[in-house]
Amino acid sequence: MSLSLSPDEPAVPNDATDGVWLECIDCSETFAPFEDVRYTCDACDGLLEVRYADLPTFDDFEGRGVWRYADALPLESGVTTQEGATPLYEVPRLEDDLGLEAVRIKHEGMNPTGSFKDRGMTVGVAVAKELGVDRLACASTGNTSAALAAYGSRGGMQTLVLLPAGKVAAGKVAQASLHGARILEVDGNFDACLDIVQELAAEGEAYLLNSLNPFRLEGQKTIGLEILEAFRDDYGTFPDRIVLPVGNAGNTAALYKAFRELLQAGAIDREDVPKLTGVQAAGAAPMVEAVENGSDEVRRWDDVETRATAIRIGNPVNAPKALPGIRETEGTAIAVSDEEITEAQRDLAGEGVGVEPASAASVAGLRKLRAEGIVTEDERVACLTTGHLLKDPDAAAAAGDDPEPVPATTEGVLEHLTGESRPGR
Ligand SMILES: *Cc1c(COP(=O)(O)O)cnc(C)c1O
Ligand SMILES: [Zn+2]
Repeated sequence: MSLSLSPDEPAVPNDATDGVWLECIDCSETFAPFEDVRYTCDACDGLLEVRYADLPTFDDFEGRGVWRYADALPLESGVTTQEGATPLYEVPRLEDDLGLEAVRIKHEGMNPTGSFKDRGMTVGVAVAKELGVDRLACASTGNTSAALAAYGSRGGMQTLVLLPAGKVAAGKVAQASLHGARILEVDGNFDACLDIVQELAAEGEAYLLNSLNPFRLEGQKTIGLEILEAFRDDYGTFPDRIVLPVGNAGNTAALYKAFRELLQAGAIDREDVPKLTGVQAAGAAPMVEAVENGSDEVRRWDDVETRATAIRIGNPVNAPKALPGIRETEGTAIAVSDEEITEAQRDLAGEGVGVEPASAASVAGLRKLRAEGIVTEDERVACLTTGHLLKDPDAAAAAGDDPEPVPATTEGVLEHLTGESRPGR
């Protein structure tokens, strides 16, 4: 099967363009990449993956950001706002507290629109241009819509976003709006929005840029490439584990693909592959359920709820690509409560790293796995934080302390400061 860590060398099909083609992960049918609009396999409706005749090693990369990795991407350049090259922060207090050899935070909130979705969009919107479509669409828990709106406007294209009414953080709606997307608020959850947008796309109304789109995941692979390069440079070795929040499981699938391609290119060895470890909110944890049951099938959860709205997803579309990744890398998946998520958000903020709730799930999951002894003290771990604190100002304000009213005099302020202790402490 193509999704194992030791795949067969691919035979380059006749429909490849410059050594790039699309291949079904289920039946291995191949398709030309840029001729027709296609999101899934014509033959069996399976998920598609971008495949390459030549895969690069680390020596082939040059420059900064997502397009440093152009040799691992389907196009040479994209519609860009200089996404990628995000920081990998040290968090010494958290590292001590968790009792681990190393903990680093890959803060994807430092992308241009404040989430990793930019990495996917710089590639996906460029492919849309290549295909000659003029209207782009997505369903979104918020960040995809912000990124699509920004990259669509940069590329001079119309954008349409479907959002679950009342369940999208304020910063994200504001971004989609100002970048000029038409925002349709759907009376339903994210999964219902995605069902509708897939049908619109199937009818040719718009080009779909959810993570079902195989090109978007190519851009998101670069998160893994950056983490591996940074660990190698700092520690002379790769991380033992990468812990990440899981919604539609696009990143889990994308990181796994990055590892498989590096292995295939001979750039890393089998023992260099980090254990992919997914974290979901307890109120939206179908992937965790599947991993715990050892199942290949993910049961769709119809009722999902969590404060971490970016991962409030009951039907992870990339599960068929992501589950083999978790299994083959000997990783795992775990669910955390909203309280544990908020606690982790505070921990990160206490070291100067501001993230939105979904992002903090990675750290909350790491803490839980460490407490359970599944993550051991000798491990070097990278946690992915997917979005910026300012995305969800309401959640941040609720997790932090309240402002303290004081009189407009120095004396009054001094009196206040020497008086009762800070509220909420
Ligand atoms: C989209 C998103 C996720 C979920 O990522 P998947 O690749 O769909 O699993 C997690 N966190 C944030 C902040 C997001 O925007
Ligand atoms: Zn197929």
